[in-house]
Amino acid sequence: MGGFQLVELPPVEKTDRPILAAIVGSESVLIIDSGNSKNHAREFLNEIDKLSLPKRRYLVITHWHWDHVFGIAEMDMPTFAHIETKIEVEKMLHLDWSDKALEERVENGTEIVFCKEKIQEELKEPRILNLKAPDITYEDGVIIDLGNITCKIDHVGGEHSIDSSVVQIIEDRILFIGDCLFVDLYHGDWSYSTESLIPLIEKLLSYDVDYYVLSHADRPFPKKEFIKITNMLKEIGLLADKIGDDKESIMKQLSRPIVDEDIQNLDYFLAGLRKYK
Ligand SMILES: [Zn+2]
Repeated sequence: MGGFQLVELPPVEKTDRPILAAIVGSESVLIIDSGNSKNHAREFLNEIDKLSLPKRRYLVITHWHWDHVFGIAEMDMPTFAHIETKIEVEKMLHLDWSDKALEERVENGTEIVFCKEKIQEELKEPRILNLKAPDITYEDGVIIDLGNITCKIDHVGGEHSIDSSVVQIIEDRILFIGDCLFVDLYHGDWSYSTESLIPLIEKLLSYDVDYYVLSHADRPFPKKEFIKITNMLKEIGLLADKIGDDKESIMKQLSRPIVDEDIQNLDYFLAGLRKYK
């Protein structure tokens, strides 16, 4: 193994900027996600231009949500994505992104308030965007050899976004999971369902890695901590399935002290029950 470098720009909550990362091999560089704007992409490219990295560069997109794809045109490099990611980004290419159009889409249910507000925070009017769709697609996944470093991209899906992919840096035992572990945002109340979440968690835990990187978390999680977090999620979800809409009984049956996230997560699972049961 040699030549591995990881360059990251941390997430920004106010504008919903996700982590951007560059995986550096001896021959080429793979950038994970393009950022939520031309500026976000540019800031990242400026950072990596300060380093003497290989000139051959690729981009991979973890899923189609605006904060991960608005920088594709600025990145201007061969871009890998799941086929559904490309299809969704293509739908966005010719949309009007003015405040008025965003309001209308929120009204008719094709956009959500959360994203509208974050878009307005990141991008001021007049909001004329130069968007571009990914150009290299896969269905199950693809393996990219960067020279001594191998990146394995797998489609994992999940309810956050059915097109979600993860990126495994094989030699360095890291898995970038994008937002796949987060809730379904786009279908009414934000929700989780155990039917979708538990198989996804099992899949993520099956990777032989030491660290998990979530796009909007401020640090990577060691596997042990990731197991703990996902176990907590599973426990809450399974109790919600068993007991139904009775928060007090669910919290009483928890095998451990309640933490803040439990209350939020329980609301998500209960929202899921209302949607699907
Ligand atoms: Zn997302």
